[in-house]
Amino acid sequence: MRVCIFGTGYVGLVTGTCLAEVGHHVVCVDVDAAKIEALNRGVVPIYEPGLTPMVQANHAAGRLRFTTDAEAGIAHGEVLFIAVGTPPDEDGSADLKYVLAVARTIGRHLQAPAIVVDKSTVPVGTADQVRATIAAELAARGVDVPFTVVSNPEFLKEGAAVEDCMRPDRIVIGTDSPEALQTLRRLYAPFNRNHDRIVAMDVRSAELTKYAANAMLATKISFMNEIANIAEQVGADVEMVRQGIGSDPRIGWHFIYPGAGYGGSCFPKDVQALARTAQQHGVQPRLLAAVEAVNAAQKQHLFELMVRHYGSADALRGKTIAVWGLAFKPNTDDMREASSRTLLAQLWQAGARVQAYDPEAMGEARRIFGERADLVLCDSAERAIEGADALAVVTEWKQFRCPDFALLRARLADAVIFDGRNLYAPADVEAAGIAYYGIGRGRSL
Ligand code: NAD
Repeated sequence: MRVCIFGTGYVGLVTGTCLAEVGHHVVCVDVDAAKIEALNRGVVPIYEPGLTPMVQANHAAGRLRFTTDAEAGIAHGEVLFIAVGTPPDEDGSADLKYVLAVARTIGRHLQAPAIVVDKSTVPVGTADQVRATIAAELAARGVDVPFTVVSNPEFLKEGAAVEDCMRPDRIVIGTDSPEALQTLRRLYAPFNRNHDRIVAMDVRSAELTKYAANAMLATKISFMNEIANIAEQVGADVEMVRQGIGSDPRIGWHFIYPGAGYGGSCFPKDVQALARTAQQHGVQPRLLAAVEAVNAAQKQHLFELMVRHYGSADALRGKTIAVWGLAFKPNTDDMREASSRTLLAQLWQAGARVQAYDPEAMGEARRIFGERADLVLCDSAERAIEGADALAVVTEWKQFRCPDFALLRARLADAVIFDGRNLYAPADVEAAGIAYYGIGRGRSL
């Protein structure tokens, strides 16, 4: 099938590439000329496992093309995906300016019947706005081209995006058009062979499903962080508690890890946007507000542990803290809303220096922070601990899981680790003569 995708970010580029991989003919359109130029040279601007060779192979095979020419993309596609960003507006609601800009562009250039598929995460009712925007542009041109707007929210996880796209848990399709549903069934058939993963529903339910999924996941994290904070104060170890509750199949093992708070481009903004939607419709989002508040506090928790260890924030002045992990989670270079950013800001505020290392996010860190005297971006985890006083682990990359504690003891002048992801057994760290602070590990305080 002929597909056009607006937006070549994490969602658009991965979706377009996976659709090309199974034989569809995909044109990706982006307004960022530098990104398109890089992609046309085979340079993938984001880190996502397995993506680069797939982009290069499908580009070389002519099934995956990149352009800034929206008109050409629209002429090519029988299915037109909207996969642009929906950042938070000032009041926390989703800013639809990019989505509606694409809708206007489609309305200005559409010549033949098409299915417009909204893959961006958008509030309930957005498909109606997209439809009205396209219709207004068509009316202004004095033409009548049939089109349908479908909601098809994306559930891929950064860091496993290609895998998720090739083997989705479910494909939610919101539409009241049986023909559009049939077309999307054909489009997704290669990803839907083992059993039927398509969950068809009305448009509004599909739009809400995406927010409900992310809000549920964020709730699990904040819940565990609250339990961790209780554990810390009552002298219990949340890691024991986690194993104790995860064994109940009604609770399950997934997503019950306490830590330094959730970040990324989705959970923070989607929880906020859902809360705004609720308020706009007269529903008081009590739980969502609590989820957000717990997370905001949790992002400050590692710093609080440091203050506890050193006696005061002032005592951190002039200290050098090694930070392992800057990305908001492993296997990505994405630092949007990352917990590391909160910690670094607090450390700098206190007058500490940071020596940071992340396996993939160093370029992103350089772009975000620029040159500063109180930040050294190191090219290895070992470099980051050279001359440091303490270590903070902020992202649970696999390569941080089994460090040489004897080396850490030798390098860290103050012999202390702040483990924001509970990667280490307190006893192992303490046996090496290093003080250990984790999340919710009351026994070690
Ligand atoms: P992103 O910021 O990585 O990429 C968005 C891209 O859209 C950018 O390259 C930008 O230049 C481009 N763009 C903006 N306006 C455009 C226009 N008018 N025409 C063409 N391109 C345009 O965003 P993302 O992380 O891929 O997220 C996209 C959407 O998918 C968001 O709504 C997000 O909430 C949702 N989502 C993201 C993830 C994720 O893990 N990142 C997962 C599921 C859903």
